[in-house]
Amino acid sequence: MNDHAVKIAGGAPTGLMLAGELALAKVDVAVVERRPNQDLTGSRAGGLHSHTIEILDQRGIADRFLAEGQKAQVAAFGGTQLDISDIPTRHNYELGLWQKHIERLLAGWVGELGVHNVMANPAETNQWADLLAITGQLYGPPAGTSTGRPRAEPTGH
Ligand SMILES: Cc1cc2nc3c(=O)[nH]c(=O)nc-3n(C[C@H](O)[C@H](O)[C@H](O)COP(=O)(O)OP(=O)(O)OC[C@H]3O[C@@H](n4cnc5c(N)ncnc54)[C@H](O)[C@@H]3O)c2cc1C
Repeated sequence: MNDHAVKIAGGAPTGLMLAGELALAKVDVAVVERRPNQDLTGSRAGGLHSHTIEILDQRGIADRFLAEGQKAQVAAFGGTQLDISDIPTRHNYELGLWQKHIERLLAGWVGELGVHNVMANPAETNQWADLLAITGQLYGPPAGTSTGRPRAEPTGH
């Protein structure tokens, strides 16, 4: 696990998308996630915006999301529903899709790209220790061992 050029702490949408982009750029990347599986507490994100779908389309994976989501040609702005059917894109809609599904589909994609995607398994002590060693350097103690938020301490000016 320690011999990857880049280790990303967090296998949610941001971490998985970043991993995919790096893998496409031929960077040896691994993702470590402290959750034991992709179950989420609460619903979290409920969908994808038009431009996000465009980006997924550029990567050739938009269809995977479109096949599972619910299209809506409106965008919510401060409680107001805006018609986006005339915006200049072939994806002139938003897509309703819960984050757990977004993560699952992204995880499948990065897996195809050869990304090492590790989810924590406390039963496997070595793997968990490895995870802590990596993410601890980035964020400090994992969930359950600290009440603090992830640290992002500035270095230098
Ligand atoms: C209650 C709630 C409701 C929301 N509702 C919506 C909504 O309706 N629509 C919408 O678009 N968005 C919604 N959001 C926002 C959406 O969930 C976030 O935009 C999205 O989750 C951001 O993804 P992310 O990958 O950046 O971060 P996160 O989803 O927060 O993922 C971070 C990941 O990093 C992992 N992690 C953290 N620390 C470590 C560590 N030390 N080691 C290893 N792994 C670590 C975490 O377990 C987690 O999986 C909601 C968020 C919350 C909290």
